[in-house]
Amino acid sequence: MTLPSQRLGRAFAVSTQQSLRPACPVAGGHLQPEYDAVVIGAGHNGLIAAAYLQKLGVNTAVLERRHVIGGAAVTEELIPGFKFSRASYLLSLLRPQIYKDLELKKHGLKVYFRNLYSFTPMLEEGIRDKPPRSLLLGTDMAETQKQIAQFSPKDAQAFPKYEKFMNRLASAIDPLLDATPVDMTVFQHGSLHQRLRALFTFKPLLQAGLILGAQLPQYYQVITGPITKVLDEWFESEPLKATLATDAVIGAMTSPHTPGSGYVLLHHVMGGLEGKKGAWGYVEGGMGALSHAIAKAAAAHGANIFTEKPVDKVQVNSNGQVQGVVLKDGTEVRSKLVLSNASPQITFLKLVPQEWLPEEFFKRISQLDTQSPVTKINVAVDKLPNFLAVPNSTSGQPLPHHQCSIHLNCEDTQVLHQAFEDATKGIPSHRPMIELCIPSSLDPTLAPPGCHVISLFTQYTPYTMTGGKVWDEQERNAYADRVFDCIEAYAPGFKKSVIGRDILTPPDLERVFGLPGGNIFHGAMSLDQLYFARPLPSHSNYHSPVRGLYLCGSGAHPGGGVMGAAGRNAAKVAFEDFKSINPSLITEHPGHCSWPAF
Ligand SMILES: Cc1cc2nc3c(=O)[nH]c(=O)nc-3n(C[C@H](O)[C@H](O)[C@H](O)COP(=O)(O)OP(=O)(O)OC[C@H]3O[C@@H](n4cnc5c(N)ncnc54)[C@H](O)[C@@H]3O)c2cc1C
Repeated sequence: MTLPSQRLGRAFAVSTQQSLRPACPVAGGHLQPEYDAVVIGAGHNGLIAAAYLQKLGVNTAVLERRHVIGGAAVTEELIPGFKFSRASYLLSLLRPQIYKDLELKKHGLKVYFRNLYSFTPMLEEGIRDKPPRSLLLGTDMAETQKQIAQFSPKDAQAFPKYEKFMNRLASAIDPLLDATPVDMTVFQHGSLHQRLRALFTFKPLLQAGLILGAQLPQYYQVITGPITKVLDEWFESEPLKATLATDAVIGAMTSPHTPGSGYVLLHHVMGGLEGKKGAWGYVEGGMGALSHAIAKAAAAHGANIFTEKPVDKVQVNSNGQVQGVVLKDGTEVRSKLVLSNASPQITFLKLVPQEWLPEEFFKRISQLDTQSPVTKINVAVDKLPNFLAVPNSTSGQPLPHHQCSIHLNCEDTQVLHQAFEDATKGIPSHRPMIELCIPSSLDPTLAPPGCHVISLFTQYTPYTMTGGKVWDEQERNAYADRVFDCIEAYAPGFKKSVIGRDILTPPDLERVFGLPGGNIFHGAMSLDQLYFARPLPSHSNYHSPVRGLYLCGSGAHPGGGVMGAAGRNAAKVAFEDFKSINPSLITEHPGHCSWPAF
C-alpha cells in the first residue's frame, strides 16, 4: 500500500504492506501428508480445477502462497472500510457452465449488472455554455445510436451492424474456449486409439468455421489485423473508434496500430452474464467474493484450501512422474497429480527441477513474451468524481455514467498510440490511457456511506525505464500524480477527494500477485502465444514434460481474464489421466466418474 503522499492533503494513517487480514471462511484445516491431487495456487483457475476434481472424487488440496485466496481475482481491505478489487475488477468472461456446475449463486455469488458500459468524456470547451460532449454506450441500442450520432450519424447507422458482425465472431470462438486445442503431435506420434480420440478436438474448429461460413476471410482479417484497420472500415468518428480500441489493447504492450490487436478486442467482447451476451458486471464484495464462492463450492465437496503455503518445488521421481510438492518451510506433500495455477514461467523456471525439462522447452518458456503496460491504481475517495461533461446531481448520488468503464484520454486513437510510443522509449506515458471504474456506485458494501472505491486501470508503463530508472516510491508517486492530473482535467475536484491510494506498477504486480513482467494474463495474448501455441506449440493440452504435472492457469489455453476455462479444461485432462491409473475411482464413486460430472 502506498501511503497517500503529503500533497494529497488529509493523509490517511495506513502503514501496511498488505491488506487487513480477512478471515477466509474456507481456508485452513490440517494439511495431510498425501492427497490425490495438489493444486499450486488459489487463483480462480486453481480453485475451479480443485472444485471439479474433488467433485469427481479426486481428493484435492490447494496451496496458496499469499494470505488471501483468489490470485488476481481478490478483494483486499487496504484502508479500513474500503474494499478494493485490487487487481481484476469486472466480471464477464467466466464460462457459463462453471456458474452452473459449481452452483456459484448458492455459494454466495451476486453480480451487479451494468446497463451502460462505457463513458468517454471529451476534453473540450463547452459550446455556448453547454458542457463538453461525451459518448455513452450501453445495452439500449437506440440510445447508444443517439449518442454516437452526436459525433457521426453515419457511424450511428453502422454500429448495430458492427455489433452483429463482432457477435458472430465471438459465437464462433466460443466453443474453442471450453476444449483442449487440437494436438498435432498426437497425430504424428500417438497410437491409433489416441489419434481417433484426437479427431474430436477438431470439432470446435469445424463448428467455428461453420458459424463464420463464407465470411471467414473477413473474420480472419479482424483477428490478425490492427484494430485501427478494422475500425476504420466501419467508422469515421474518433471518440467511437478510440473507445472501442481500448478493448483491443487492454493489458497488452501494443498500439491499436499493432497487427493482432483485433483478437484482444474479441477476447474482451466474448463474455456475458446470465445469458446476456457481452455484459460486464461488478461482483458484490469485489472480485474476491467470486473466488470465495468458488472456494466454497470446492470446500463443500471436500477440497482442502490452505493460504500462506508457498510451494518451493515440484517433486519428480526417477521415472519422470510427479510425486508431490515441497513447501518453502520444507513440508512435503505427496500426490499423484500436481496442477499448477502459477504462471508457466514460475512453474517451469522456478518450481520444476530443471533436469526434468527438455533444454529446448526450458529455453522457450524463458523466452515467452510477458511484457505488460499496466499500472493499476486503487483509490479511496470521499466523494464521487464530478465530470464536466455530465455534472453530478445536487444529491451527490451516483448517476448512470458512474457505473460505466470511464475512458479518459481516449477521445482519439492517436492519443492511445502516442501513449504506447512513450512506453516503447522506456518512459511512462505522458497522457496515459485510463479506464476508471467506480464499483461502489452500484455495490454499497465496498466503502463507507458517501465514500467510494475507484479502480484506475492505466497504461502504458514499461517494466524497465530508460536511463536505468527503477520504480521506486518517487517514480510511482510521480506517475500516479500524472494520472490524477489527467483525471482532474475531466473532473475538477477529484484530487481533493482522495483519501488514499495503492499503486501497482508492473514490478509490483509481479511481486504481489506472481505475474511475470506484471503481465495480467500470465503471458501476452498475442496470436503467436494463443490456442495450440499457448504456452508453447505442442504443449497446449495442459500436460507438461513431467508426467502428472499440468498447467491450469491463464498461461494455458484459452488465456487470461477471469474466465475459469483453463482451470476447468485442465481438471478434465488431469481427471481422465487419473482415472486411467486409478480404475478403483469408478467403483468408489459410481455416477461421479465421467466428465461432465454434474
Ligand atoms: C490489474 C489487473 C486487472 C485485471 N482486470 C481484469 C478484469 O477486470 N476482468 C477480467 O476478466 N480479468 C482481468 N484481469 C486478468 C485476470 O485477473 C487474470 O488473468 C486472472 O485472474 C488470472 O487467474 P489465474 O487463476 O489463472 O491466475 P492467478 O490469479 O495469477 O493465480 C495464481 C495463483 O498462484 C499463486 N502462486 C504462484 N506461485 C505460487 C507458489 N510457488 N506457491 C503457492 N502459490 C503460488 C499466486 O499467489 C496466485 O494466487 C486483470 C488482471 C490484473 C492484474
